[in-house]
Amino acid sequence: MEIEKLEPLPEDWDRALCVVAHPDDLEFGAAAAIARWTGQGKTVTYCMVTSGEAGIDGLAPDECRTVREAEQVESARIVGVSEVEFLHQPDGILEYGVPLRREIAHVVRRHRPDIVITGNFRDTWGGVNLNQADHIATGRAVVDAVRDAGNRWVFAEQLTDGLEPWGGVRAVWAAGSPVAGHAVDTTDTFDAGVASLEAHRAYIDGLGWENWDPREFLEGFARQTGQRLGVAFAAAFEVFPMGWGE
Ligand SMILES: [Zn+2]
Repeated sequence: MEIEKLEPLPEDWDRALCVVAHPDDLEFGAAAAIARWTGQGKTVTYCMVTSGEAGIDGLAPDECRTVREAEQVESARIVGVSEVEFLHQPDGILEYGVPLRREIAHVVRRHRPDIVITGNFRDTWGGVNLNQADHIATGRAVVDAVRDAGNRWVFAEQLTDGLEPWGGVRAVWAAGSPVAGHAVDTTDTFDAGVASLEAHRAYIDGLGWENWDPREFLEGFARQTGQRLGVAFAAAFEVFPMGWGE
Protein backbone atom coordinates (compact mmCIF):
# COMPACT_ATOMS: atom_id res chain seq x y z
CA MET A 1 0.00 0.00 0.00
CA GLU A 2 1.25 3.45 -0.94
CA ILE A 3 1.76 5.62 2.15
CA GLU A 4 0.64 9.22 2.08
CA LYS A 5 3.69 11.49 2.34
CA LEU A 6 3.85 14.40 4.78
CA GLU A 7 5.51 17.76 4.05
CA PRO A 8 8.13 19.08 6.48
CA LEU A 9 6.96 22.10 8.51
CA PRO A 10 8.81 25.37 7.96
CA GLU A 11 11.31 26.28 10.69
CA ASP A 12 12.13 29.86 9.65
CA TRP A 13 10.29 31.45 12.57
CA ASP A 14 11.25 32.69 16.05
CA ARG A 15 8.24 32.65 18.36
CA ALA A 16 5.46 30.14 18.91
CA LEU A 17 2.52 30.26 21.28
CA CYS A 18 0.81 26.98 22.16
CA VAL A 19 -2.83 27.28 23.24
CA VAL A 20 -4.53 24.06 24.33
CA ALA A 21 -7.49 23.11 26.50
CA HIS A 22 -5.76 20.99 29.13
CA PRO A 23 -2.48 20.23 30.83
CA ASP A 24 -1.20 17.05 29.03
CA ASP A 25 -2.72 17.93 25.62
CA LEU A 26 0.68 18.93 24.18
CA GLU A 27 2.43 15.96 25.75
CA PHE A 28 0.45 13.39 23.76
CA GLY A 29 2.70 13.89 20.72
CA ALA A 30 3.62 17.54 20.23
CA ALA A 31 6.12 17.97 23.09
CA ALA A 32 8.98 16.27 21.22
CA ALA A 33 8.52 18.82 18.42
CA ILE A 34 8.54 21.66 20.97
CA ALA A 35 11.82 20.29 22.37
CA ARG A 36 13.32 20.36 18.88
CA TRP A 37 12.28 23.97 18.35
CA THR A 38 13.46 25.29 21.73
CA GLY A 39 16.72 23.45 21.01
CA GLN A 40 17.03 25.56 17.86
CA GLY A 41 16.81 28.69 20.03
CA LYS A 42 13.18 29.47 19.30
CA THR A 43 10.92 30.89 22.03
CA VAL A 44 7.87 28.79 22.82
CA THR A 45 5.23 29.78 25.36
CA TYR A 46 2.42 27.59 26.69
CA CYS A 47 -1.11 28.74 27.47
CA MET A 48 -3.55 26.31 29.10
CA VAL A 49 -7.19 27.36 28.74
CA THR A 50 -8.17 25.22 31.75
CA SER A 51 -6.07 23.64 34.47
CA GLY A 52 -7.50 20.18 33.80
CA GLU A 53 -9.09 20.31 37.25
CA ALA A 54 -11.91 17.93 36.26
CA GLY A 55 -9.49 15.36 34.87
CA ILE A 56 -8.85 13.03 37.81
CA ASP A 57 -11.83 11.09 39.11
CA GLY A 58 -10.44 10.58 42.60
CA LEU A 59 -9.28 14.16 43.13
CA ALA A 60 -11.55 17.16 43.77
CA PRO A 61 -11.03 20.13 41.41
CA ASP A 62 -9.51 22.56 43.93
CA GLU A 63 -6.76 20.13 44.86
CA CYS A 64 -6.44 18.77 41.35
CA ARG A 65 -5.86 22.20 39.84
CA THR A 66 -2.74 22.77 41.93
CA VAL A 67 -1.34 19.32 41.15
CA ARG A 68 -1.94 19.57 37.42
CA GLU A 69 -0.58 23.10 37.08
CA ALA A 70 2.63 22.00 38.79
CA GLU A 71 2.88 18.95 36.53
CA GLN A 72 2.39 21.12 33.44
CA VAL A 73 5.07 23.61 34.49
CA GLU A 74 7.54 20.74 35.01
CA SER A 75 6.49 19.12 31.75
CA ALA A 76 7.14 22.40 29.93
CA ARG A 77 10.52 22.86 31.60
CA ILE A 78 11.65 19.46 30.29
CA VAL A 79 11.16 20.60 26.68
CA GLY A 80 12.71 24.05 27.16
CA VAL A 81 9.57 26.10 27.82
CA SER A 82 9.84 28.45 30.79
CA GLU A 83 6.57 30.34 30.51
CA VAL A 84 3.22 28.63 31.15
CA GLU A 85 0.02 30.63 31.48
CA PHE A 86 -3.29 29.33 32.82
CA LEU A 87 -6.50 31.05 31.76
CA HIS A 88 -8.55 29.25 34.46
CA GLN A 89 -11.56 28.60 32.26
CA PRO A 90 -13.82 25.74 33.46
CA ASP A 91 -12.49 22.27 32.57
CA GLY A 92 -14.91 19.97 30.75
CA ILE A 93 -17.49 22.60 29.90
CA LEU A 94 -15.66 25.07 27.64
CA GLU A 95 -17.88 26.82 25.14
CA TYR A 96 -16.81 28.06 21.76
CA GLY A 97 -17.81 31.69 21.50
CA VAL A 98 -16.87 35.32 21.81
CA PRO A 99 -15.80 35.18 25.50
CA LEU A 100 -13.27 32.40 24.74
CA ARG A 101 -12.03 34.21 21.62
CA ARG A 102 -11.55 37.35 23.71
CA GLU A 103 -9.39 35.53 26.28
CA ILE A 104 -7.21 33.93 23.61
CA ALA A 105 -6.92 37.08 21.47
CA HIS A 106 -5.52 38.86 24.52
CA VAL A 107 -2.84 36.19 24.94
CA VAL A 108 -1.93 36.41 21.23
CA ARG A 109 -1.66 40.21 21.45
CA ARG A 110 0.63 39.97 24.47
CA HIS A 111 2.98 37.32 23.07
CA ARG A 112 3.01 38.35 19.36
CA PRO A 113 3.90 34.88 18.01
CA ASP A 114 4.79 33.93 14.42
CA ILE A 115 3.14 30.51 14.82
CA VAL A 116 0.26 29.44 17.06
CA ILE A 117 0.01 25.77 17.95
CA THR A 118 -3.14 24.10 19.19
CA GLY A 119 -4.47 20.54 19.40
CA ASN A 120 -6.60 18.57 16.97
CA PHE A 121 -10.05 20.14 16.83
CA ARG A 122 -11.58 17.92 14.17
CA ASP A 123 -14.59 15.84 15.25
CA THR A 124 -12.58 12.63 15.58
CA TRP A 125 -8.97 11.38 15.81
CA GLY A 126 -9.34 9.63 12.46
CA GLY A 127 -11.25 6.56 13.60
CA VAL A 128 -14.65 6.42 15.20
CA ASN A 129 -13.57 7.83 18.57
CA LEU A 130 -15.03 11.29 19.01
CA ASN A 131 -12.78 14.15 20.00
CA GLN A 132 -13.44 15.82 23.35
CA ALA A 133 -15.66 18.92 23.49
CA ASP A 134 -13.04 21.21 25.12
CA HIS A 135 -10.51 20.41 22.36
CA ILE A 136 -13.00 21.33 19.65
CA ALA A 137 -14.08 24.55 21.38
CA THR A 138 -10.48 25.59 22.00
CA GLY A 139 -9.15 24.93 18.50
CA ARG A 140 -12.03 26.74 16.83
CA ALA A 141 -11.62 29.69 19.18
CA VAL A 142 -7.85 29.74 18.53
CA VAL A 143 -8.12 30.15 14.75
CA ASP A 144 -10.72 32.89 15.19
CA ALA A 145 -8.84 34.62 18.01
CA VAL A 146 -5.71 34.79 15.86
CA ARG A 147 -7.69 36.86 13.34
CA ASP A 148 -9.36 38.88 16.11
CA ALA A 149 -5.93 39.74 17.55
CA GLY A 150 -4.97 41.54 14.34
CA ASN A 151 -8.10 43.69 14.16
CA ARG A 152 -7.90 46.84 16.28
CA TRP A 153 -11.69 47.22 16.29
CA VAL A 154 -12.30 43.75 17.74
CA PHE A 155 -11.88 43.55 21.53
CA ALA A 156 -10.69 47.16 21.31
CA GLU A 157 -10.98 47.50 25.10
CA GLN A 158 -7.81 45.38 25.38
CA LEU A 159 -5.71 47.97 23.57
CA THR A 160 -4.58 50.02 26.55
CA ASP A 161 -1.21 50.49 28.26
CA GLY A 162 0.66 50.07 24.98
CA LEU A 163 -0.95 46.74 23.97
CA GLU A 164 -1.23 46.72 20.16
CA PRO A 165 -3.12 44.53 17.68
CA TRP A 166 -0.99 41.61 16.42
CA GLY A 167 -1.57 40.38 12.89
CA GLY A 168 1.77 38.65 12.50
CA VAL A 169 0.67 35.04 13.02
CA ARG A 170 1.61 33.18 9.83
CA ALA A 171 -0.25 29.96 10.59
CA VAL A 172 -2.06 27.90 13.20
CA TRP A 173 -0.78 24.35 13.48
CA ALA A 174 -3.07 21.69 14.98
CA ALA A 175 -1.11 18.82 16.52
CA GLY A 176 -2.32 15.28 15.95
CA SER A 177 -5.04 16.14 13.43
CA PRO A 178 -6.25 13.11 11.46
CA VAL A 179 -5.98 15.14 8.25
CA ALA A 180 -2.49 16.51 8.97
CA GLY A 181 -0.46 17.15 5.84
CA HIS A 182 2.74 18.24 7.58
CA ALA A 183 5.16 16.87 10.14
CA VAL A 184 8.42 17.57 11.91
CA ASP A 185 11.30 15.17 12.61
CA THR A 186 11.36 14.39 16.35
CA THR A 187 13.93 11.59 16.26
CA ASP A 188 16.55 13.50 18.30
CA THR A 189 14.11 14.93 20.85
CA PHE A 190 11.81 11.94 21.23
CA ASP A 191 13.12 11.12 24.74
CA ALA A 192 12.38 14.63 25.99
CA GLY A 193 8.84 14.20 24.69
CA VAL A 194 8.45 10.99 26.67
CA ALA A 195 9.82 12.58 29.85
CA SER A 196 7.46 15.49 29.32
CA LEU A 197 4.45 13.15 29.25
CA GLU A 198 5.77 11.18 32.24
CA ALA A 199 5.78 14.45 34.21
CA HIS A 200 1.97 14.19 34.30
CA ARG A 201 2.30 11.45 36.89
CA ALA A 202 -0.80 12.14 38.98
CA TYR A 203 -2.90 12.39 35.84
CA ILE A 204 -1.56 9.17 34.31
CA ASP A 205 -2.04 7.32 37.61
CA GLY A 206 -5.55 8.76 37.84
CA LEU A 207 -6.48 7.32 34.44
CA GLY A 208 -6.05 3.87 35.92
CA TRP A 209 -4.93 2.33 32.61
CA GLU A 210 -3.15 -0.82 33.69
CA ASN A 211 0.38 -1.30 32.37
CA TRP A 212 0.10 1.74 30.15
CA ASP A 213 3.54 2.81 29.02
CA PRO A 214 3.98 6.45 27.86
CA ARG A 215 7.04 5.59 25.74
CA GLU A 216 5.35 2.73 23.94
CA PHE A 217 2.26 4.82 23.34
CA LEU A 218 4.16 7.78 21.90
CA GLU A 219 6.46 5.53 19.86
CA GLY A 220 3.57 3.97 17.97
CA PHE A 221 2.34 7.31 16.62
CA ALA A 222 5.81 8.80 16.14
CA ARG A 223 7.02 5.83 14.09
CA GLN A 224 3.95 5.81 11.83
CA THR A 225 4.26 9.56 11.25
CA GLY A 226 8.03 9.25 10.78
CA GLN A 227 7.50 6.73 8.01
CA ARG A 228 5.39 9.24 6.14
CA LEU A 229 8.10 11.91 6.49
CA GLY A 230 11.02 9.59 5.75
CA VAL A 231 12.58 9.72 9.24
CA ALA A 232 12.52 7.47 12.33
CA PHE A 233 10.13 9.53 14.48
CA ALA A 234 7.96 12.54 13.68
CA ALA A 235 4.98 14.54 14.93
CA ALA A 236 2.12 15.49 12.59
CA PHE A 237 0.36 18.85 12.34
CA GLU A 238 -2.48 20.23 10.25
CA VAL A 239 -1.57 23.67 8.88
CA PHE A 240 -4.08 26.53 8.74
CA PRO A 241 -2.45 29.48 6.91
CA MET A 242 -3.50 32.79 8.46
CA GLY A 243 -2.34 35.17 5.75
CA TRP A 244 -4.48 36.08 2.77
CA GLY A 245 -4.02 34.61 -0.70
CA GLU A 246 -2.52 31.29 0.41
ZN1 LIG B 1 -7.29 17.37 26.59
